[in-house]
Amino acid sequence: MITENLSELKKTIPDHVCLVAVSKTKPVSDLMIAYDAGQRHFGENKVQEMCEKQAVMPNDICWHLIGHLQSNKVKYIAPFVHLIHSVDSLKLLLEIDKQAKKNNRVISILLQFHIAQEETKFGLDRNEAIELLNSNEFKACQNIQIIGVMGMASFVEDRNQVRSEFKILKSHFDFLKEKFFATDSYFKEISMGMSGDYSIAIEEGSSIVRVGSSIFGGR
Ligand SMILES: *Cc1c(COP(=O)(O)O)cnc(C)c1O
Repeated sequence: MITENLSELKKTIPDHVCLVAVSKTKPVSDLMIAYDAGQRHFGENKVQEMCEKQAVMPNDICWHLIGHLQSNKVKYIAPFVHLIHSVDSLKLLLEIDKQAKKNNRVISILLQFHIAQEETKFGLDRNEAIELLNSNEFKACQNIQIIGVMGMASFVEDRNQVRSEFKILKSHFDFLKEKFFATDSYFKEISMGMSGDYSIAIEEGSSIVRVGSSIFGGR
C-alpha cells in the first residue's frame, strides 16, 4: 500500500512543494518501500530513532528533524541532518551552530512558530523571533542558515480555523523575509501541512509538507 499511497499523494502535490515522508514509529522496511518508490526526504520526530534509521539506510536520504529537539541531543544528528524544522529558542540555535561547526558543515534550520490555538504546541511568537534575529549571538553564527519557518495548525475539524492559522504562519514568513532576509535568496521555505491539512497548506503558500499517516498508515 505504501507505494500506492505515495503515488496517489504525489499526484496532489505540485512539483515546487517538497514532500517529507514522516516515518516516525514505522520500521525501516516500510521506509525502504518508500525509498524504492523514489522517496528521498524523510521526517522523524525523535533523535534516537532518526539516528538508528540513518545508520542502516542509504546515504542519499535527506533526513528532516521535525519534532521538539533538546539541545543536549543536537550532537547526535549534526553530522548528517538535512533540515531541522523545530528551532524554537536561541539556546537551541546556538547549540546547532556549535555542533555544525564541529562537523565542518552549515546546517539549515527553520524557525518554528506557535500558530495553533492549543496551548501544548511548541514554537516562537513574532516578538520572540525578532529578538532572536536581532541578538548578537545569532549574528555571530556562521554554521547555521535559517531558510524559513515551520508551524503546526490546530487538530480541529474547522477548516477555516486551520486555514487562518496557516495564513498567520505565511504572514510571519513575509514579515521576516522583508525585515531580515530581503536579500537572502535561501530564505524561502514554509513548512506547513500534514496528512489532514496539506492541501489547505499548499493553497496558503506551503513549500514543504510533512505527511505521515497518508503514506505509511495510522500509528
Ligand atoms: C507526526 C507529524 C507529522 C505528520 O503527521 P500525519 O498526520 O501522520 O501526516 C507532521 N509534522 C509533525 C511535526 C509531526 O510530528
